[in-house]
Amino acid sequence: MRDFKDVKRIILKIGSSSLVDNKLKIKEDVIDKLMSSFKSLLDKNIEICLVTSGAIALGRGELGLEKKPQEMALKQACAAIGQSKLMEYYNEAAYKYGIICGQILLNHDDFQHRNRLNFLAQSLEAMLKNKVIPIINENDALAVDEIKVGDNDTLASLLVPVINADLLILFSDIDGLYDKNPKEFSDAKFINCVDRIDDEIYKMVGINSSNVGTGGMKTKLDAAIITTLAEGNMIICNSNRIIDLEKIVLGDDIGTLFKAKKHIISSREHWIIYRVKASGDILIDDGAVKALNNKKISILPKGIISVNGNFLADAVINIKDKSGNVIAKGITNYSSSEIDFIKGLKTTEFLSEKYRKKEVIHANNLVIIREDLLC
Ligand code: GLU
Repeated sequence: MRDFKDVKRIILKIGSSSLVDNKLKIKEDVIDKLMSSFKSLLDKNIEICLVTSGAIALGRGELGLEKKPQEMALKQACAAIGQSKLMEYYNEAAYKYGIICGQILLNHDDFQHRNRLNFLAQSLEAMLKNKVIPIINENDALAVDEIKVGDNDTLASLLVPVINADLLILFSDIDGLYDKNPKEFSDAKFINCVDRIDDEIYKMVGINSSNVGTGGMKTKLDAAIITTLAEGNMIICNSNRIIDLEKIVLGDDIGTLFKAKKHIISSREHWIIYRVKASGDILIDDGAVKALNNKKISILPKGIISVNGNFLADAVINIKDKSGNVIAKGITNYSSSEIDFIKGLKTTEFLSEKYRKKEVIHANNLVIIREDLLC
């Protein structure tokens, strides 16, 4: 048994291939099982948030498109058509169990801006407190590359710190993590619990391709890093175990558990690393890299070689070494054009009425990207 006695708030993510069959029709029995499990959990005062895929696949079904559309506009149209169908199915099943659902559609930039993120957190909080199930998907009808999250494993993990979820369960068409691909190797061993997500774990995972879904095992491991560093537990589990949801939440050994990591990074650092896309980057010289490797220090113009991108002050940017590796991420005091003007200069050479701050990025606004934070 797992020690889940403190689990009070959970996020579930269900993938397209678990919800939509090969003929691109909804699996009504899966939706029904979900709602029936939700009913038991709500009765035990567990709060639930559902992240669901399936919109694009259902939209394809409605339009009779056998293959995934490549054209962005058609994909967006499928999402718009399928999303309303999806909610129709959820609402119908929820009604049967006396459950109320609310729909929220998100893109990556909803996580980027602190005040938008606050409104999102407040709205989710109000739903959860009233035993409403928020049903969340990416806003695919409006998602273009610059603003999309791209897959719902990541989307679900980004929500963990927003609602302080104790547990994220990714329901998928796989049982969890194996040390080798179980489809190829009959001696593949199932991994029940992962304490540390390192290169070895990533190496175990082969490329996973499914006709209807987006996220493979790699996105699930990335989601595990984001979740566990936000102090949440995460489970990958086969969607044929939806019926056992209550048992899973109570701690039965089902699926692979990635254990929450406490107090590794602050919530502000988590926001900077995972929830904000960098608007540009600065390249720093070897001396500055060495100083940063030893301890978290402020980035001064003197160590900056070049700046890329077009951004304003207060943007989150990447700090790269000369080989292009991202070694840190932080909030800049200066815009890209200002950095371009003061790069390479000593403090005494630029401090003035216009350039009042000596640091381009203050140490308090900087996160060093250590290996264990990378996904
Ligand atoms: N948001 C997409 C959809 O509803 C799916 C993304 C995913 O499967 O990760 O079709």
